[in-house]
This record gives sequence, structure tokens and C-alpha cells, in this order.
Amino acid sequence: MAPLPGELVFEAPKKGKPPLHLMDLDPAGRRAAVEELGLPAFRADQVSRQWLGRLSDDPTEWTDVPAPARDAMSAALLPTLLTPVRAIDCDGGTTVKNVWRLHGGALVESVLMRYPERVTMCISSQAGCGMNCPFCATGQAGLTRNLSTAEIVEQVLAGARSLARGEVAGGPGRVSNVVFMGMGEPLANYRSVVGAVRRLTEPAPSGLGIGARGITVSTVGLVPRILDLAGEGLPVTLAVSLHAPDDELRDTLVPVNTRWKVSEVLDAAWAYGEATHRRVSIEYALIKDINDQRWRAELLADRLVGHLVHVNLIPLNPTPGSKWTASRPEDEAAFVRALERRGVPVTVRDTRGREIDGACGQLAAATP
Ligand code: SAH
Repeated sequence: MAPLPGELVFEAPKKGKPPLHLMDLDPAGRRAAVEELGLPAFRADQVSRQWLGRLSDDPTEWTDVPAPARDAMSAALLPTLLTPVRAIDCDGGTTVKNVWRLHGGALVESVLMRYPERVTMCISSQAGCGMNCPFCATGQAGLTRNLSTAEIVEQVLAGARSLARGEVAGGPGRVSNVVFMGMGEPLANYRSVVGAVRRLTEPAPSGLGIGARGITVSTVGLVPRILDLAGEGLPVTLAVSLHAPDDELRDTLVPVNTRWKVSEVLDAAWAYGEATHRRVSIEYALIKDINDQRWRAELLADRLVGHLVHVNLIPLNPTPGSKWTASRPEDEAAFVRALERRGVPVTVRDTRGREIDGACGQLAAATP
């Protein structure tokens, strides 16, 4: 993978590198690691079946594995990566935000959202974010470091275990959807994110067996990485955080736009759609009197019409110190109507977790 021009800007400091974990490895890597411990390779499959199939993180439950082998494997390959700092919920316990401490001390957050027909987990790919979008709380403190594949996967597994045990309101359940819309820019941590997507989608005991169609990777628009992702053969949904149809405004709202312009980002998105046959999602946070004018809706429609696309409008969520607020209801409605009239599929996102600072753009993990 060739470095991106200016990649230094995106490169995370090496601070607090996490230890290797079973979830960093593919099945062959797991067998090799287990053999290095002096154990037969098939123990790797047994532990994977416990960890991913039965969602058991308690080695004493692995009755098919002799105790010394259990101990050796958990000591070497199953270090605790995420230490719970706190869990807060709202919506009658169906929205749960978790704050985790990583090795090195950085904090990240994940959010579980239960709906009648699905459970979506919103997960972080980096501690902090280097993209510096002025309306997003995560960007304000900058980037601390990239997460490893296992640190990403374990956020989903934590939710999956808690659902399986019936700890989430609504009874026992499963994670059906995963969105890379928590802290961080997933495509600036490309290798770990692709590894995590493989782990999440491959069937047990290799992975968690979540359908790729239920997974969404959201990006500010790192064009070379969008094109790389298109070549991975992973039919995940791509979401592009556009927020403005014109370069002048997008240069300020999504600063990486000074590197890759709206037209380049959209061309990459269409190429992604063609390669994967997936409808691309366009994220657009509606900000009062900033990007919600009727003419911008028309310009957005000009750029999208005729493509396999869906627009997700997000009423701006409040963040500390920001002077911006969500659009007036009538402006939001006019924006929706303008897109609909042009035949562009559009929905307004039902924002969850605002009251626990768990909604889009609010994840900052500032208070341990
Ligand atoms: N860095 C990736 C992943 C984060 S996804 C990306 O930008 O796509 C989080 C989504 O919430 C992005 O679309 C982001 O632009 C949006 N967002 C950020 N701050 C927000 C806010 N205050 N209100 C509503 N949406 C916001």
C-alpha cells in the first residue's frame, strides 16, 4: 500500500501500542501462535470457537481445553485490551455508551443502539481523530493513536457478549450492524480497519459472522483509501461525510477537502459503488445557516442525481464550544423536499444518544 501524499499528517504516534491479541490474527496466524506456545494447532480453533462462537471470555468455561493450555493461551494471546471506565444508557436502556481505557491510557467510546429489528454498534477506529472537522467533538483534541484490529473487534465483542447475556434492555440478542462512525477516521487506520472488517464478517470460528451488508465504513473522503477499499472484495457500505456540495464551504467544514476535492471524493465513491454494487451513503450534517440553504440542496442534487446513492441528513448535534446549531425544522424540511423532488433518496437520521453525549460528533471521552 503506497503511502498517501502527506501521510505524516495522518500517522498516529506510536504511544501506548497494544499487545498482540488473538483477534489480531487470522486462523492461520492463530494456529502458528498457539504452536509457538508449544500447544497443538487445533487448540487455536477451540479457543476461537469459545471466543467468537460462544462469546465466552472466561477460560474456566472452556471445558474442551485442558486447564494448562487455557492458562497459557489466555496469558499469551488474550490480554485485556479494553478496560471499562463507565457505561451510560438512555432510551430505556436500549442505547448504551461505553467508555474504554486502552493500553497507554487513551480513552475511546463505543455505542450500542437497539432497534426493534436490529442492533447497531457504533465503534471507534482511533483514539481521537486527526481530521479536525470544526463541528465534531472528537477532532478537537487531535489524534492520540490508531487502534489495533483486536481493539476494534473487542468493542463489538463486548456488545455481543452483553447482548448474549441478556444485559441489554429487550432481552438476549445479537449484533446485526456495525458502523465505523465512532471516534477516528477509519481509512486513516486502513490496515487495522480492514482486518477488523474481516474478523467481523468471516464465519465462526474465524470471525463473528456479521453480514458485510450490515457493516458501514464512514470516511471524510481519503480518496486513495476509498479506491483501495473497493479492491478488498468486502461488500461493506461506504459512507462519505460530505456536509457540503461545494469546495469553498467543504474546505472549512472538512479540512481534508483542501487535499481531495468534492468531485474527486464523489468519483471515488461512485467507483466504490461500481466495484461493490453497493449503494453509497452520503452523510450531511445540517448546520443552521451554514450548509442548509435551498441552493446548496440543489447543488447537492446536481452532483448526486443518477447515481446509486442515499443521503443521510444528520441534524447537527451540539458539541462543547461550537457556535453552530441544527437547522430550523422548516429549512430541514425544505432541504429534504428539494432532494426528493430531484429523485435523490434521502432520510433524516434518527439521532440516538444525545443526552449521554453518544450521538454523532459528540464522542470525546474527555471525562474518565
Ligand atoms: N471520520 C469518519 C467517521 C466518523 S463518522 C467520518 O467523518 O466519516 C461520524 C459522523 O458524524 C460523520 O459523518 C461526521 O461528520 C458526523 N458528525 C460529526 N460531528 C457531528 C455533529 N456535531 N453533529 C452531527 N453529525 C456530526
